[in-house]
Amino acid sequence: RATSEGTPVKAYAPSMGHLFLRRFQLVTQFRQAVETGQISVHYQPKVALPSRQVVGAEALVRWTHPEFGRVDPDEFVPAVEATGLVDVLTDFVMDRALERVRRWLDRGLRMSIAVNLSVRTLGDEDFPNRVSAALARHDVPSGLLTFELTESGVMADPERALPVLRRLHAIGVVLAVDDFGTGYSSLAYLRQLPVDEVKIDKSFVLGMGTDLGDMAVVRSIVELGHSLGLVVVAEGVEDDAARDQLVGMGCDVAQGYLISRPLSEDRFEAWLRARTVQ
Ligand code: C2E
Ligand code: CA
Ligand code: CA
Ligand code: CA
Repeated sequence: RATSEGTPVKAYAPSMGHLFLRRFQLVTQFRQAVETGQISVHYQPKVALPSRQVVGAEALVRWTHPEFGRVDPDEFVPAVEATGLVDVLTDFVMDRALERVRRWLDRGLRMSIAVNLSVRTLGDEDFPNRVSAALARHDVPSGLLTFELTESGVMADPERALPVLRRLHAIGVVLAVDDFGTGYSSLAYLRQLPVDEVKIDKSFVLGMGTDLGDMAVVRSIVELGHSLGLVVVAEGVEDDAARDQLVGMGCDVAQGYLISRPLSEDRFEAWLRARTVQ
């Protein structure tokens, strides 16, 4: 350990090593974590504006680690993505998600589920086959499955991603550009992609109440999206003021803490029941 305040570099070094070790452990333990039930999927509802009708949910992965406790996906997803294990993650989440949709359908609820896709998966030519197989296995219509992909992910290697996106689109799944506005966003780029939905990054939605610039970005994404015939979704909707502004702009769908935090399977089902059986 560093002894004087004058040596911040030394004081920082052990914690870097510690983080590296932890990352290494997360990567090497991931497969076993899936097999032993440490990995679960939480669901965050999406509602139509202005009706507030629940149209579906986003599936968000969670890891309850025996030593580290709850590990944030922002930490372990990038680590897992850097390895060949991202397939294991995507397939697990997709399977759980489709199982949910099937149960909703059995109860007469027609709701869609959104699964996040990693850049790596977009380069995997076999992925569309696995999607078709999973849809068939759960007997779910393809239109009820949405994939959210980040624009930086697609732009990292468009040559590789485009064929996979086209095949996914041909299957009939819905494609959404996530975190829109943060990367290389451009109108030309959006037009080239076979996408149906654009999801405004939460940083702009969160800033809307205090920052006129953020407000302008949100408004122009809504207009741009609609002019391209896309469904526009806002994430990070935390208060009534933001919701009202989005309604005023004509935004189609809202997601955020105002509606609900991501919930475990059981808690999501309870939330749904409380909402629909009034
Ligand atoms: P994301 O796809 O942008 O997901 C939205 C994140 O915003 C989630 O964080 C969600 O809990 C959080 N959020 C939702 N509503 C609000 C709100 O009103 N205010 C604020 N401040 N935050 C809100 P989470 O669950 O920690 O996930 C973080 C990221 O991890 C996701 O960002 C996504 O990129 C990645 N991720 C999560 N699950 C998966 C997965 O199954 N596969 C892949 N490849 N990535 C995943
Ligand atoms: Ca997402
Ligand atoms: Ca997002
Ligand atoms: Ca994100």
